[in-house]
Amino acid sequence: MPVWLKRSLIALGVLVAVGGAAYYWLVVESRMPSDAAYALDIGEVRRMVAAVPGDKPVSVEVEKVAAFSFPATAIVAGDGWSQRELPVFSYRLVTPESSVIIDTALNAELGGDNLVAFDADAYARMEQAMQTASLILITHEHMDHIGGLTVHADLPAVLPATKLTREQFDHPERSVPAKFPDGALQGYEPLDYDKYKVVAPGIVLIKAPGHSPGSQMIYVQRADGSEMLFIGDVAWHYRNIATQRERARLVTQFFLKEDRTAVFGQLAALKALNDAEPEIAIVPGHDGEIVGELIESGVLAEGFTSAAGGE
Ligand SMILES: [Zn+2]
Repeated sequence: MPVWLKRSLIALGVLVAVGGAAYYWLVVESRMPSDAAYALDIGEVRRMVAAVPGDKPVSVEVEKVAAFSFPATAIVAGDGWSQRELPVFSYRLVTPESSVIIDTALNAELGGDNLVAFDADAYARMEQAMQTASLILITHEHMDHIGGLTVHADLPAVLPATKLTREQFDHPERSVPAKFPDGALQGYEPLDYDKYKVVAPGIVLIKAPGHSPGSQMIYVQRADGSEMLFIGDVAWHYRNIATQRERARLVTQFFLKEDRTAVFGQLAALKALNDAEPEIAIVPGHDGEIVGELIESGVLAEGFTSAAGGE
């Protein structure tokens, strides 16, 4: 073998090895780090709920406003390159006298070419429902959750009901391309809380930074005692919890700038909760299958169609 050919083959071998290692690291690897830890004390959350009397939500409605489509491995590392849908949802908790919005999706303009679906009617119903909501809560400050708020046609009317947390308020760079109009948040007082915060009867914010600095989960206990946990994008799909696998590192590190270890800790805590208390409905950020099942079983009602309190 000529020396040049030998050298070329060695160089190619090194390239393949390095490339393969990089591919594995960025696209496939998803082992639970040994230092991943997150405390989720559901007993404490229930005690806090029990201490706050009042009308709890009687129904929970969902609007599917839009959808993204990502390669499976972007959602669950190692799942391959076939496309999976990531629907974008908004939820409404309805009590006899009021209503609470969880997440505000995004409009077609913010989604742009990234969207594979957009339901203008659903978006319009959500925008309308925000006007009469007594509370607007955001799981985290990413554009597909906060976007509908930032571009709301009557922001001054909906801001008083909006409870942005300190961390969400402090990280507008995480919301781009969504952005509040200049000066819109002048004088706005964000919510400071430590670990758990009851914001209405049966509704508790649970701090969960990691996917973004302002990420939180929202626990809901209905009047009939049934429980739900909206986990935002701690997991995009339930499969992240079931398999204890994160998004591909390429996504978490370079696009999301996640605290990956923190998210792993949350995935472990959610798995433990789900094993111990399977009747609590865990709602991942973008799982059409889970939402479909919850609609099927009557836990979620499709569409913001009821005459919610305050209207
Ligand atoms: Zn999202």
